[in-house]
Amino acid sequence: MKAPVRVAVTGAAGQIGYALLFRIAAGDMLGPDQPVILHLLEITPALPALQGVVMELNDCAFPTLAGVVATDDLNVAFKDVDYALLVGARPRGPGMERKDLLEANGAIFGPQGKALNDHAKRDVRVLVVGNPANTNALIAQQNAPDLDPKCFTAMVRLDHNRALSQLAEKTGKHSTDIKKMTIWGNHSSTQYPDLHHATVGGKPALSLVDQAWYESDFIPTVQQRGAAIIKARGASSAASAASAAVDHMRTWAMGTAEGDWASMGIPSDGSYGIEPGVIYGYPVTVKDGKYAIVQGLEINDFSRARMDATNKELREERAGVEHLFAK
Ligand code: NDP
Repeated sequence: MKAPVRVAVTGAAGQIGYALLFRIAAGDMLGPDQPVILHLLEITPALPALQGVVMELNDCAFPTLAGVVATDDLNVAFKDVDYALLVGARPRGPGMERKDLLEANGAIFGPQGKALNDHAKRDVRVLVVGNPANTNALIAQQNAPDLDPKCFTAMVRLDHNRALSQLAEKTGKHSTDIKKMTIWGNHSSTQYPDLHHATVGGKPALSLVDQAWYESDFIPTVQQRGAAIIKARGASSAASAASAAVDHMRTWAMGTAEGDWASMGIPSDGSYGIEPGVIYGYPVTVKDGKYAIVQGLEINDFSRARMDATNKELREERAGVEHLFAK
């Protein structure tokens, strides 16, 4: 067994938290030889519920769980952490404008960014799941001036996995037969699931499906999958969101397979004409714990228009939260 690493999870008593913690503690995220110490953050009223979750974690007697810290103090939650999964966020209430939502989340992600800045390991890997995830990640990053901006990422992996699943079903193949899936942009309904570079069993995906299915079925189904699950289940997706968070962090820690890539929301460096600085979903390869944007992909007019639309939304979101950035 390796030396334990510290993994922070916020919103730990919520429904994604409940599906996530047991996967991390069981070794699904960092491997069966990597013990973890969980740092669980909750708001004060949720601490009693969190204690119940801690009791259950202990009752699993996981070989890879080396300790649990449960707290409502940011400075304790992020002390010396190697990984941070920021799940807790303010959900959109009835009649709430996007501006109010961004403001409410600024009050959460600004202080969390500062606490990470002050207490986390210098190479901490941060994944924001709580929505609006891309812009919440930007707020946290902009309040952590001493950390590398590349430490902050947002989750588009659930969209990526949903796209794999839809394409596998349509082509009668398994998701493991599909390579080079891409989600560009924001984790919102403007995201662009791109099949132009994807292959199924080595064949170009777009040679196996027709354009009408791609445009009118696949893209909207992936974009609106969250709403479909709420309608069917009476509650938002949780286990699949948790599983995607595990996938994102595992990829970041252990790398992408040769000949394949993953989608991650990462700070744009201007690649593909995207506004520098916004947290944008890109195809990435990961090696030795560092991600790199896949370069040189051909972008046609169909893709360009969709990539620009989601870029525009992210620029507008950023304009709405710039006053929350540390000076
Ligand atoms: P969930 O655990 O269901 O969701 C948490 C966040 O994940 C929400 O912002 C949700 O967005 C987002 N999310 C991202 N992707 C998905 C997806 N595919 N499906 C569903 N959600 C997704 O929320 P709960 O209300 O059950 O739990 C939240 C917990 O966070 C509560 O226990 C609360 O006390 C806590 N909290 C903790 C904070 C902290 O630690 N400082 C701050 C704020 C809250 P969306 O709203 O769009 O569904």
